[in-house]
Amino acid sequence: MTRFTKITASIGPSSEGNAMLRQMILGGVNVFRINFSHDTGDVQGKKIDSIRRLSRELGVPVGVMVDLQGPKHRIGNFAGEEKYPISPGQTFTFDSNPEPGNSARVNMPDADVIASLKVGERILLNDGKIEMQVTDVAPNEVKAKVVRGTEIWSRRGFNVPDTDIKTGALTKKDRADLEYALTKNPDWVAVSFVQRPEDIAEVRDFITARTSAPIKIMAKIERQNAVQRIAEIASAADGVMIARGDLAVELPYEQVPAISRKIIRECRRLNRPVVMATQMLGSMVESEFPTRAEISDVANAAYLRVDSTMTSEETTIGAHPLKVIETMDKILSYSDMDAIEHSNDWVRAENAPENDWSRSVSSMAHLNHAMAIIVFARDTDSVTSVSCRRPDVPIIAVCDNNLIANQLCILRGVIPIYTPDLFALRDFNTVAKIAEIKSGKIVVVDGDEVSLRDLD
Ligand code: PEP
Repeated sequence: MTRFTKITASIGPSSEGNAMLRQMILGGVNVFRINFSHDTGDVQGKKIDSIRRLSRELGVPVGVMVDLQGPKHRIGNFAGEEKYPISPGQTFTFDSNPEPGNSARVNMPDADVIASLKVGERILLNDGKIEMQVTDVAPNEVKAKVVRGTEIWSRRGFNVPDTDIKTGALTKKDRADLEYALTKNPDWVAVSFVQRPEDIAEVRDFITARTSAPIKIMAKIERQNAVQRIAEIASAADGVMIARGDLAVELPYEQVPAISRKIIRECRRLNRPVVMATQMLGSMVESEFPTRAEISDVANAAYLRVDSTMTSEETTIGAHPLKVIETMDKILSYSDMDAIEHSNDWVRAENAPENDWSRSVSSMAHLNHAMAIIVFARDTDSVTSVSCRRPDVPIIAVCDNNLIANQLCILRGVIPIYTPDLFALRDFNTVAKIAEIKSGKIVVVDGDEVSLRDLD
C-alpha cells in the first residue's frame, strides 16, 4: 500500500536519541519539526545533526523544519504558584509595572501589544478560558472588563484575535534562533503568528542576507488576520501550516474545519504544500490507542488531500511516539488508497486553469493508467505543481541536490530520490526499477518535455 499523505513529526524529550529517530524514519516520518519554542541552540542543533546522519545512513531523504516561536504573548508573574480569583463584570488592568500581579492587575511585558489594543477588542487568556474586553487604553496600560473566567495565574498565554499587532514576524529570540538554525542548513523554516505577507518577506530577507541556500518558508496560520489574507500570505510563503491549536483560540473553534478547507483549497490553487497540524492523535500522548474521532480526523486530512499531517505533543512528550507514527501511517495509507479508488479528484485539480501543464501531466497519468510520474527535478517548482494537482499515482522526483530532495519530502505523493550523479539516473527505466515498478506505463517529465513511456 502506498501512502500519499506525508507525516511531519515534532521531536522532543520522548523522541530524542539516534535509536528512536531511526525507528521513526523507518516507521514513516518524512519531515521532522524542531520547535524552537522549547529548546534552542546546540540542544536543537544536535537533533538536526542526528537526522542528517541517519538520513545518509538509511539512504532516504528526510526533511528538517525549524519552527520559530514567534510573538507568542504571555502575561507576567503573580506571587508564587497561587491562582488569583477574578469574576465576570470586574475590571482588570494589564500594565508595564513588573511587580507581581493580583486579582486587579498584572504586568504585560510586550509593550507593542499594549500599544496595539483598541477599545472593544477581545483579550483571551489561558487558551481562551478567560475572555476580557478592552474598555480603556493609555500609553502604558490597558483596562478590560472580564467577560468569562474565574481565576488567573502566572505566564498565561495572551491572545488578541481582533488586534493587528504592529510588530514584525521575528522577535529578538526568533532572530537569535534563526541565526543559529541557519548554520545547520534547515530545509524549511516555519514562521509563527504570521499576520501579513510582509512578515514572510521579513523572514526571507533575514535568511537571504545570511545564506544563498534557497531555504523554504512555511507560514503558520493561527491568527484571524492571516486567514483573511491567506492567498497573499500563501503566495509570499512556500508552504502553509494550519496551526489549529492557536487558530481555535483566536477564532471560534467551530469555524476551524471550514477555515482549514478554505486554506487547503487556496494552497492547491497557488501550488503551495499544506500541513494539517495539532491534536491529530492527541489522546495518544497517554493512550496506546487513538479515539474514534481522531481516526476520522487523520483520515479526513487524507481525503482532503493535504500534503502532510503533523504530530505535536504526541511525539514530543507522549508515552508512545512510535505507536503514534504507526497509527498515523496505517490510517493515512488506507484512506489515501480509498480516496483514489472512489473519486475522480485528478480531473478537478481545483482552480488549476484548463491548459495548465501540470494538470495535463496528472490527467495523462490517469487516463493511461500509468504506474507513476517520474520528474527529473532541477528545482522544486515543477514537482510542487504536479503534486498540487493531486494525481492518483506516485510522483518519483529524481534530483542531484540534497536540499531539494529534502524539501520535496513534505509534498503529497512525492517520492524524492537523491543522486549525486543525475546523468547516471537519467533513464526512466532505471528510476522505475529503484522504485520497484516492474511494468506498465510511466509519464516522464524532463524540463519542458512531457512524454508517456512504456517500461522495457
Ligand atoms: C498550533 O498552534 O497549532 C501550532 C502548531 O503551533 P505551536 O505548536 O508552535 O504552538
